[in-house]
Amino acid sequence: MHDAESCWKCGEPSAQSLFCRFCNTLQAPSSDYYRFLGLERRLSLDPADLQRRFYSLSRLVHPDRYLRSTANEQRFALEATALLNDAYRTLRDPVARAEYFLKEEGFDSGEQKSNNVPPEMLEEVFDLNEALEELRGGDPSVRPQLEAARRRFRSLREDVDGDLEAQFREYDAGRQREILGSIRALLNRRRYIENLLHEVERELMN
Ligand SMILES: [Zn+2]
Repeated sequence: MHDAESCWKCGEPSAQSLFCRFCNTLQAPSSDYYRFLGLERRLSLDPADLQRRFYSLSRLVHPDRYLRSTANEQRFALEATALLNDAYRTLRDPVARAEYFLKEEGFDSGEQKSNNVPPEMLEEVFDLNEALEELRGGDPSVRPQLEAARRRFRSLREDVDGDLEAQFREYDAGRQREILGSIRALLNRRRYIENLLHEVERELMN
């Protein structure tokens, strides 16, 4: 999949739009989620607007519409439909959206860093691991401690989500690259909290 410069059918400049401005023929879809959905490159997106674009594009590129079209159009309709689903799933979730945005901006996923305990959580994580061990050893008296940890991690995650939203707005306002660095750090911290939360929830379910 690549972004063509001109319409595959009439040869006029397609301006990288999904439908040729001259002959209205479906083009190879752009693999860039923002461009594909006709969105400005912003970290904050309006969910209602995103949903409207999703539904309207779903109709426009639905493969059933192209059953009698050329092989090219049938192929582009299938590609565009798959791409649309990926794009919508990614962009409607603020965390997945930020991960996508950062990747496009050349920030690594930080996957390897997510295992490092954030310094301010060291003590808490130590206590938690102890409690988890005890619960695995069959000591039910640590349950309340784990329930407290679950509440605490949920609230930490909420805090991070609030911080992320604020950073999104700040980035959109001034496009300062260092803000992307703070967003990267927040996402790593969020992933770490999520992992802890899953561990606690798994133990509590046993
Ligand atoms: Zn054309």
